[in-house]
Amino acid sequence: MQICQKCLMISTRPRLTFDDSGVCSACQWAEEKRTSVNWAKRLQELKSYCDKYRTMTNFDVVIPVSGGKDSSTVAYKLKHMYGMNPLCINISQSVSVNSEMNDRNLNTFRLLTSIFFV
Ligand SMILES: [Zn+2]
Repeated sequence: MQICQKCLMISTRPRLTFDDSGVCSACQWAEEKRTSVNWAKRLQELKSYCDKYRTMTNFDVVIPVSGGKDSSTVAYKLKHMYGMNPLCINISQSVSVNSEMNDRNLNTFRLLTSIFFV
């Protein structure tokens, strides 16, 4: 077993690899994003797209949501930080291991965000 020299993640995590310095692939990717992406420029691009597609009368953007934190964060930020009117969609799977948790998360998401949801 190997342990990341930066974050202490262990090598039993699926798909995790280590470089010659003992740093895990998640830490390598985090460092690459931090140093190679111009986040200020990306934010301006996002704001430009929001301005272009914000209508104030209809839905401005369609967001697929799963009930997880990633899609919920995207929907919340687009509505409350960037003034968009999102339409969130969720396609339920007929068989889901975590269906009870997903349903609970989606219901909480609906209540807390006031985002229209189908
Ligand atoms: Zn790491």
